[in-house]
Amino acid sequence: MAAPAALRFDGRVALVTGAGNGLGRQYALMFASRGAAVVVNDLGGDLNGGGKSTKAADIVVDEIRSKGGNAVANYDSVENGARLVQTALENFGRIDIIVNNAGILRDNLFARTSDTDWDLVHRVHSRGAFQVTRAAWPHMKKQKYGRIIMTSSSAGIYGNIGQASYSTAKLGLVGLSYTLSDEGIKYNINCNAIAPFAASRMMTPVVPDEVVAQLKPDYVAPVVLYLCHESCDETGSLFEVGAGWIAKLKWSRSHGAVVRKKGVPMLPEDVRDNWNKITDFTNFTFPENFQRPYLVLNEIESDTDTSA
Ligand code: NAD
Repeated sequence: MAAPAALRFDGRVALVTGAGNGLGRQYALMFASRGAAVVVNDLGGDLNGGGKSTKAADIVVDEIRSKGGNAVANYDSVENGARLVQTALENFGRIDIIVNNAGILRDNLFARTSDTDWDLVHRVHSRGAFQVTRAAWPHMKKQKYGRIIMTSSSAGIYGNIGQASYSTAKLGLVGLSYTLSDEGIKYNINCNAIAPFAASRMMTPVVPDEVVAQLKPDYVAPVVLYLCHESCDETGSLFEVGAGWIAKLKWSRSHGAVVRKKGVPMLPEDVRDNWNKITDFTNFTFPENFQRPYLVLNEIESDTDTSA
């Protein structure tokens, strides 16, 4: 039997934000090596969001071209998302794939988080992804095709000391991804979120070399490429990815308990007395959409009818 065809992106246009370094660079190189025309966006700033340079994007574009690939640079901040999408349209005539990857850190303990740090982190991660994706959305809708990645973080999913602003923005991107998945489904626009871990300048420089070798961006990029391929139907999902390990995350919900009784006020003591049942995950479920809590109302009616 013939081996399945390699995943190619010929004729597709991919925009990778923050592609001058780390993970984004690897995504851009891999998309180009598989036939996509790539917009390499990077404003060339430092880790904290300061500075600006064309160098970071230019080096990646040169590397792609030297290998026979097709790429152009864009040096705008993701906050000016329309300009990034314009670069794709002007140079390649379409936009098929967006990898919202650009990011900065402004880590500090919560009590020491300044307004400036909070706002800057949100402007780059949340507002940036919003601006870029909104600019591309009508084009994807019209062509009935789009693949979008939001970059979350385990800091957002689980929380992390010193990363209040970053974790808020990063979990927000998961919510955005879920909503875009719902809104995009009838236009063949898929949107997924990843929480990567990889050795980059974002990681503390004291990580030993042998760990760095296990955490190459090369072990994250193939997941992004697969999720962005036309053959992949996955949408509205969140994956933890790193070191060659890939896992899908879902919300889980305890069976819960109806604690109110017909004809009497619901009291804090009702909550206390049912706490073990409320938090018991023996019969857990994986809630997948927004309507489910409301469907539970039917069960509540029948419970309360018998418990008065
Ligand atoms: P990195 O610092 O190596 O690369 C990020 C790039 O984004 C830089 O080249 C930077 O110049 C660019 N950038 C920053 N602000 C920008 C802006 N406003 N507009 C355009 N470009 C901008 O970081 P990385 O480790 O490769 O991280 C990539 C993404 O993955 C980030 O969103 C990060 O939060 C996320 N992430 C990374 C890790 C990890 O382990 N490396 C873990 C969790 C999440």
